[in-house]
Amino acid sequence: MIAIDPRRDDDHFHDECGVFGISGHADAASLAALGLHALQHRGQEAAGIVACDGEQFHSHRALGHVGDNFGNEAVIRRLPGSSAVGHVRYATTGDTAMRNVQPLFADFEFGGLAIAHNGNLTNALAIRRQLVRRGCLFQSTTDTEVIVHLIAISLYATVEERMIDALRQVEGAYSLVALSRTAVLAVRDPLGIRPLVLGRMRNGAWMVASETCALDIVGAAFERDVEPGELVVLEGDQLRSIHPFARQPGRFCVFEYVYFARPDSVVEGRDVYEARKRIGRELAREAAVPADLVVPVPDSGVPAALGYAGEAGIPFELGIIRNHYVGRTFIEPTDSIRHLGVRLKHNANRALLEGKRVVLVDDSIVRGTTSTKIVAMVRQAGAAEVHMRISSPPTMNSCYYGIDTPERDKLLAAQNDVAAMAKLIGADSLAFVSIDGLYRAMGETKRDAAKPRFCDACFTGDYPVALTDRGVGREHYALSVMAEES
Ligand code: AMP
Repeated sequence: MIAIDPRRDDDHFHDECGVFGISGHADAASLAALGLHALQHRGQEAAGIVACDGEQFHSHRALGHVGDNFGNEAVIRRLPGSSAVGHVRYATTGDTAMRNVQPLFADFEFGGLAIAHNGNLTNALAIRRQLVRRGCLFQSTTDTEVIVHLIAISLYATVEERMIDALRQVEGAYSLVALSRTAVLAVRDPLGIRPLVLGRMRNGAWMVASETCALDIVGAAFERDVEPGELVVLEGDQLRSIHPFARQPGRFCVFEYVYFARPDSVVEGRDVYEARKRIGRELAREAAVPADLVVPVPDSGVPAALGYAGEAGIPFELGIIRNHYVGRTFIEPTDSIRHLGVRLKHNANRALLEGKRVVLVDDSIVRGTTSTKIVAMVRQAGAAEVHMRISSPPTMNSCYYGIDTPERDKLLAAQNDVAAMAKLIGADSLAFVSIDGLYRAMGETKRDAAKPRFCDACFTGDYPVALTDRGVGREHYALSVMAEES
């Protein structure tokens, strides 16, 4: 049964996810479920796994968390095979749901193929319109389906060639894993904007995952990052590496270090936790203020606050306690609920804060909702002064490469200078780490404007891949599918 929702789909794609793939292990689906569980922070809306037993594909995709959908042995038993790919999907404000849950699966001339995607294509709408005109019938509203159709109409013979042909036509950010009858294919966009790592189990089985924490959970050894623009083909315990694009310097997303990746992951040779601590140290050097306590906004502000406190020589204290049974604030779909969510999530530790000059540390200010609530809460708990310190530069621009950010008019920093923002959030002072400070924390001397090492468009407005779809206008999807019964 299909329920029709009267609201229209959102007018742009939201894809912010985690991907996992494994080849050459009898418990492929089980390991994929564990891997996805470790990647749950990358997407809480839906989860899916497709496994292949060499002949037949088996798929289970559902809304909700990995544990709720794959924590059950009976489900795993229905996913036999020695290779599998999986996906966790981030919440969106649109009314997407079931028809967008990945991995997507299609039967092609060459056989079946399941595809899971992290990132966001910036010319998907433009291509989609051309394909629709040519008669392609789209089943979902995700940008990923554009790749499926491009593979289908490609004139090349093999899966690999067709995938390369398709990827040469798309622009944007993608870390993709795909599963054919004989192989797991994993590929990163030419700039390597989103992460993807390779791991190996003791029995020789290869694995790919968005982050190393997904390798740790199953005891796999980290081998290396999939390189920007590299396609790896995993067949049983064999690995082949192909470089279908002209090589160019990567532009990895610096926001993965600031906030998105799990702190126990190692991404592109940097330990995320240590990187966050180093940003905190830079922040303390750039924006010191006399204070009695450094208090993180948990959990996202914790490593940076530790770095700040160490550098400033001010005690680090858990002055705000987080309730771990509430999801991230951002997953709440409306402003009013988001406000409510912040109160549900954090509480001030009054005994610690009363009469104290407090430095509050968080990783970012997006709409300003979290900071406003937290500053008020710390004041209500009796703090004498509240100084907000942010371990990223002001978020002035939307991300079109896969991090869910609101449009510019909702970004506090796009509409206000720092002094006005301080007033709006009610802090005695507010400071952000500078872009050069952020680059120093990443081991660079400063941001080289001619050759930036990272994608930092959300802070600088320097978009490394054309935003083709921005000029394409709005898309209207006639059908909104909220839920499906099988
Ligand atoms: P806001 O309350 O809108 O200012 O959002 C800032 C808070 O949301 C910070 O505490 C961040 O840790 C968190 N945050 C920042 N960016 C994102 C994102 N793309 N998705 C989810 N949470 C985010």
